Amino acid sequence: MRAAVVREFNEDLSIETVPDPTCPDNGVVLEVAACGVCRSDYHGWSGAHPKVQNGSILGHEYCGTVVEAGSNAKHKVGDRLIAPFILGCGSCHACQTGVSNTCANQIVPGFGAPGAYAEYVAVPFDHNLVHLPDTLSPALAAGLGCRVTTAWHALTDRADVAAGEWVAVHGTGGIGLSVLLLAKMLGCRVVVVDVVDEKLEHAKLHGADATVNASEEDAATAILEITGGGAQVSIEALGIETTTNASLECLAILGRHVQIGMPSGDGWMRMNMRAIYSKQLSVFGTRGMPSWKYPRLLGLIERGDVDIQPMVAREVRLEDASGELRAMRGPTSPGTAVITSFLP
Ligand SMILES: [Zn+2]
Ligand SMILES: [Zn+2]
Repeated sequence: MRAAVVREFNEDLSIETVPDPTCPDNGVVLEVAACGVCRSDYHGWSGAHPKVQNGSILGHEYCGTVVEAGSNAKHKVGDRLIAPFILGCGSCHACQTGVSNTCANQIVPGFGAPGAYAEYVAVPFDHNLVHLPDTLSPALAAGLGCRVTTAWHALTDRADVAAGEWVAVHGTGGIGLSVLLLAKMLGCRVVVVDVVDEKLEHAKLHGADATVNASEEDAATAILEITGGGAQVSIEALGIETTTNASLECLAILGRHVQIGMPSGDGWMRMNMRAIYSKQLSVFGTRGMPSWKYPRLLGLIERGDVDIQPMVAREVRLEDASGELRAMRGPTSPGTAVITSFLP
């Protein structure tokens, strides 16, 4: 099969012919219809993710059609499926208590197992996969990626937002945009922070109640003013110190901070503990979404309760993935790229 392979960090992915994946006994092989290009891929491509090495195939935001099914697979050849990026084993305590996104036996194609920057991808634990609604295009389904699902879990589980609350979101990449669209659907007011005016304009166009350009003013001070005392919920979507502290400092008393951005480097950062202490804040980490939450989220999208079209900025070819990753070195334009063409 044709695949985009990591050979050297920060260099173009190598387009190679590699062996087709072997079908797992407890899973399927999908012919990939679409695969999102994600900032997590950028971390892998640039050498900052321990599970991405010479020979790795990235791609954890995929959907496709089953072309081979293992003897213990739940799905069958021809099924059109979408996967959460974390594949839980289904039989451990975490999986059986509804938090498969914390499964200790989890497998994440693209990080430690071959991903979907390729014509085919092997997916073990296929009970995690759900049927793709006919009305949802593969590009849009893949565009949901880890961002919409992670944002959904952050808002509905970790932060447990209520209608009428102010939600601040720091960073308007895929996660930021997802938080905006989903929080608006849930009846929240949303203030969006970024340093790129074009992205703030884009956010306004898609329902942001207020925007703050953090390169022009202190984000926390601005949000305290806009919200009349602070946001109830603040989402950090970049994983860096400045925005993490802005997120803590922009909260109202008893506010909830949710760390979605994967902290870069060794993960250490200086945090304003006085803000946490004096405002009695709650601080949550979150990663992914248990797969049982997929059908409900897809239902909301299928019914038109939320329009996620703005998530996908462009459809690209497999060989264009390198350029998309390269562009993530600097501030990027709104929306994300999805690979939908895998053959020359
Ligand atoms: Zn498990
Ligand atoms: Zn992702």
